[in-house]
Amino acid sequence: MRYVGRIYRPPSEADAYILQATIGCSWNKCTYCDMYRDKQFAVRPLADTLADIATAAARFGSDVRKVFVADGDALALDMVHWRAILKGCRESFSSLRRVSCYAMASNVLAKTADELAELRELGLELLYIGPESGDDATLKRIAKGSTAADHVAAAARAHAAGMRLSVIFLLGAGGIERSGEHARASAELATAMDPRFLSALTLTVVPGTPIARAEAKGLFRLPDVAGTLRELRTFLAGAAPTDAVFRSNHASNHLPIAGRLPRDRDAMVAAVDAALAGEVALRPDWLRGL
Ligand code: SF4
Repeated sequence: MRYVGRIYRPPSEADAYILQATIGCSWNKCTYCDMYRDKQFAVRPLADTLADIATAAARFGSDVRKVFVADGDALALDMVHWRAILKGCRESFSSLRRVSCYAMASNVLAKTADELAELRELGLELLYIGPESGDDATLKRIAKGSTAADHVAAAARAHAAGMRLSVIFLLGAGGIERSGEHARASAELATAMDPRFLSALTLTVVPGTPIARAEAKGLFRLPDVAGTLRELRTFLAGAAPTDAVFRSNHASNHLPIAGRLPRDRDAMVAAVDAALAGEVALRPDWLRGL
């Protein structure tokens, strides 16, 4: 198994075999993201990717129950690659339960309904999509490349194909200026996308990114801890998916909480209120990560 550069995966894929079928992100423009800035997007030669599957099968075989296909938006791969990868995984890992990848709304919308259904049939079961915000003004400022309506359409397509979604929002993405709109619209988008898994991360301004330059010029101001918690409260109070597992346990967050939405809404909102009242210890900055 060969990996090019730093590899990222969702926390819930910690026990997955990471198969790097693409290098970098085909978009690579989001203003806050530095994950793949050192990489030029490329599709790895299919023969190399299939050789990695064979190596992993020889080494781990039936221990592999999950495969996460990297890097940043692997759904961008064409169908020739996807078919071969998914068939290779299915034939090589006898205990395989699911294959997942990161996806942008545009990747989903670039595939036809039939193609998505075929991918699902072949085993691609879960897509991680990070709209980060439901507020179109914020989406434009962070250069996400898609609108809230695009994300709703992408979610509907993925659901129609039988795929599950894990949707990620980014507290602080609207800055102080659009904090309230960002939180409210994100709750609306979470409701409309109706994912199975929902998570909130907190924006960290990484040196060298466009958002860091905007911050240095006074064009972007990150909400403070209380402002971020108020966004989380607004989000939890407003988001109404059918039944989603919610987590804010990512290392970037000040307040790790978990529950189901809408079932545990009141308890989670109360937890945020307690934190805002100073009754709960928050994760200190030195323990937070990206
Ligand atoms: S789509 Fe994801 S990986 Fe690509 S630049 Fe945006 S945040 Fe980074």
